[in-house]
Amino acid sequence: MHTDDTIVAPVTPAGEGGVSILRLSGADSLPILHKFFKPACGTRDLADRQLYYGHLLRPDGDVLDEIMAVFMQAPRTYTCEQVVEIHCHGSPGIVRDILDLCIDAGARVARPGEFTLRAFLNGRLDLSQAEAVIDLIKSRTASSQRIAFSQLEGRLSRFIYKLRDQLCDQLALVETYIDFPDEDIDQPHILKLRQTASDIAARITRLLEGFDSGRVLREGASILIIGRPNVGKSSLMNRLLGEQRAIVTDIAGTTRDTIEEQLTIGNIPVRLIDSAGIRETADPIEAQGVDRARVMSESADLVLLVIDGSCGITADDRLALSFVDTSRVILVVNKIDLGSLPLEAPFDHFRQSAVCARTGDGMAALQEEVEAELLGHPHAAAGEDILLSDRRHRDALVRSRQFLDRFLDGLDRQVSAEFLALELREALAGLGEITGETTPDEVLDRVFERFCIGK
Ligand code: GDP
Repeated sequence: MHTDDTIVAPVTPAGEGGVSILRLSGADSLPILHKFFKPACGTRDLADRQLYYGHLLRPDGDVLDEIMAVFMQAPRTYTCEQVVEIHCHGSPGIVRDILDLCIDAGARVARPGEFTLRAFLNGRLDLSQAEAVIDLIKSRTASSQRIAFSQLEGRLSRFIYKLRDQLCDQLALVETYIDFPDEDIDQPHILKLRQTASDIAARITRLLEGFDSGRVLREGASILIIGRPNVGKSSLMNRLLGEQRAIVTDIAGTTRDTIEEQLTIGNIPVRLIDSAGIRETADPIEAQGVDRARVMSESADLVLLVIDGSCGITADDRLALSFVDTSRVILVVNKIDLGSLPLEAPFDHFRQSAVCARTGDGMAALQEEVEAELLGHPHAAAGEDILLSDRRHRDALVRSRQFLDRFLDGLDRQVSAEFLALELREALAGLGEITGETTPDEVLDRVFERFCIGK
């Protein structure tokens, strides 16, 4: 990757605002600034990390804007390179003109994520920390902010580096035997290798166990409301949203298709989907809605199956139940203000919550149930105190653990040191993918594609 030129981009969002900031990064940042900046104090020798007030001049000598500029000396900068930031008036036209000045003076417009990519390539951030930068920017809840910030501070990285060091010691020990193919590995060494590898595998497993909670907190969850017509699905959606969105009527089959809204439940960003009422129907348009609900129930993280608790289970309730994966369902027994009949099997087997969508009774308890169901066992990863939330990290850890298992199996079968070393190297490569030491370029590209311009 090409990193020896000087790049420039606005680091504040496009559009009008009080102030916009442009950042230059690279060896020519300061010489480029000097070409058009006239500090009011008259110096050309800008001190490190001090704001200078002055004017930006167009090539014809006209003043373009009144600005503040700061020069930051490498390597203590975001990119580890020479950095200049220009604080100008927040006008898109001024930003564009300053960008043009920088380009004419030799800078190149930065690609999305390129500042962070340079921070990564220059060793200031490892890959999981770089990913945390974009997660932090995109985080919508306090808990996703916390997860991202802890990752940015390097908690996950430190955990991975510790495991990596232990694995490197193991590899060094195994490698001492490679030169002596006729010698078996000493029994005490085998015991030590087995003990440490099992410990590492167990720590990885504990981290993986927290993934479902971490993913839900970071990415959010989709919740589908399903049930036969008129049981109160739209009313429930409105209650959860706290405002009138879906149309509530007495006529069965009003929600013909799906309605989607975003909200947070507890600390979880949620995509809430109200589906068409499920019933046997001859109406082709309604049947399409029913089909769509069936498909959506397969991908939803959680299904709220709503029934009318004041009347018995009907054939359409059973039809709705047949659509859902019963391991991811909460039975919402609605209309309890009208009475509640005992539930018959298999409806009595599910996690359930009794509510009155009309008055809001039971809604707080339902929200707690939803949160508990989505987070699973939030303390599963307690031993590690780190919440794994990224699929890429999860996949790399799964791979690493598989090779550790093969290594342990190889120890039991007394395979040669050469094979054992191979498994350890693969396990190490899995860990290295998380921090970016052994990450293929196409994965790097995918990571940095998620960034916006100026980050
Ligand atoms: P959907 O077809 O399942 O979306 O059901 P709606 O939300 O449109 O509700 C159908 C009817 O049931 C409406 O007249 C609602 O006012 C009524 N309803 C919904 N929830 C309750 C409840 O908890 N108690 C009572 N008594 N009526 C309710």
